[in-house]
Amino acid sequence: MNMISTRDSAKEGRSYSDVLLAGLAPDGGLYVPSEYPLFSHAELGALKGASYQDVAYAVKKRLIGGDIPDEDLREMVARAYSEDSFGITDEGNIVPLVRVEDDFYVQQLSLGPTAAFKDMAMQQLGQEMQHELKKRREHLTILGATSGDTGSAAEAAFKGLDTVTLFMLSPEVGMSAFQKAQMGMLSGGNIFNISVRGRFDDCQDLVKELKNEAEFSKLGAVNSINWGRISSQVPYFFSGYLQAVERVGDVVDFVVPSGNFGDMLSGYIAKQMGVPIRRLIVATNENNVLDTLFKAGVYELNSAQVTSSPSMDISKASNYERLAFDVLKRDAQALTKYMKEFESKKRVDLKDYGVSADDFAKLGFSSDTSTHANRLQAIRDVYEKCKYVIDPHTADAVTVGFREKRSDGVPMICMGTALPVKFEDTIKEALGFVPERPARFKDLEKGLPENAFQVIDVDAEQLRQYIREHAPISG
Ligand SMILES: *Cc1c(COP(=O)(O)O)cnc(C)c1O
Repeated sequence: MNMISTRDSAKEGRSYSDVLLAGLAPDGGLYVPSEYPLFSHAELGALKGASYQDVAYAVKKRLIGGDIPDEDLREMVARAYSEDSFGITDEGNIVPLVRVEDDFYVQQLSLGPTAAFKDMAMQQLGQEMQHELKKRREHLTILGATSGDTGSAAEAAFKGLDTVTLFMLSPEVGMSAFQKAQMGMLSGGNIFNISVRGRFDDCQDLVKELKNEAEFSKLGAVNSINWGRISSQVPYFFSGYLQAVERVGDVVDFVVPSGNFGDMLSGYIAKQMGVPIRRLIVATNENNVLDTLFKAGVYELNSAQVTSSPSMDISKASNYERLAFDVLKRDAQALTKYMKEFESKKRVDLKDYGVSADDFAKLGFSSDTSTHANRLQAIRDVYEKCKYVIDPHTADAVTVGFREKRSDGVPMICMGTALPVKFEDTIKEALGFVPERPARFKDLEKGLPENAFQVIDVDAEQLRQYIREHAPISG
């Protein structure tokens, strides 16, 4: 697979494995394939009824394009999506559709080790990074920052891998007891949890500061712009589609609760790869940067507010650059100007670039916003209809999904991005009770070992010392 940067007009290609270990391209752009591989209806039909592992293998094989030997890829997919790491599954299906009412489904993507859809990408990313590092005989030290979900998903995926050492910064105050326990229990071996006496922004600033220094510039990242993560999210749109339709060729609508636009972008890529998706519906919470974008064509930086679907509390949507590249007809020069204008003026209008929100609609996109009251109502509605409890992020998707549903028999699939166990306060507010926890999360908070977190001040020197003491920087 030939990978190019959204900002590189020279179109100098790199391979899939090259970009797997990289974050941003050196020119500041994001990596995308030079073209999307296409599945025919016959090829899609051959996957109908296949296990998730088989679907993931087929889709990733095309996106990797020969860079990883088939046999190795098969083993990685099997390890990433084993019944072991996904707990009890619906007859082995790790991404089942839950029927809410006729032609309306929640696709549950959160049965993985940390109960969030981020496991779907991280589990596979861990396997692929280990494979590539072994091949190169290299070791990678990763430094990341998390406000909750990403940290635990990354730690669960990288735990025990001998090629990777992971340092994860998190704010001392702000995470839930459940999130703290999820991360703390993974401390030890190659996983180092560092609690910063500050906020999430302080954690991010510390990461940026160190990565700008020669000594730490080689530290790796696992943030949501990594192409290995995006490409590992494409298969579950194939799987959701194949589960929902009677015949390949029939269309479906997807609605995705969006923050950094990684999940929704993966759905767009599935559509470009030939999955007959009619509509790609973006659901935001009160932080509705993306809703404004898709309705008006204006991309404007926002100051994020804290909501009850916190994993979508974003001020900008980093992965949008990849879609903007396509909307600007893959003109890297225009894209670079567009993104630079956004970075300097905090606002950019597609109209000034000869395209508009209509061009999003032509690709199947639409959007809407959900609020705290909407979330509570959606949690109640779904529970009343089918006795199933959804989490607040999924509730944002369901809110918009109900609004947008047409009575034309086309299945609407809402992406279920976390389990309710992670957000029990909001569930209690909506339903008046908290559902029984899955067995593996019972009493989780009580299992938090002492000294699971190294506590530091917002002080780069303390962080430098700690990393030097505990890891090889690169190998
Ligand atoms: C990260 C996350 C999202 C948003 O996904 P993006 O890819 O950032 O758009 C939605 N729901 C949950 C539970 C998440 O953890």
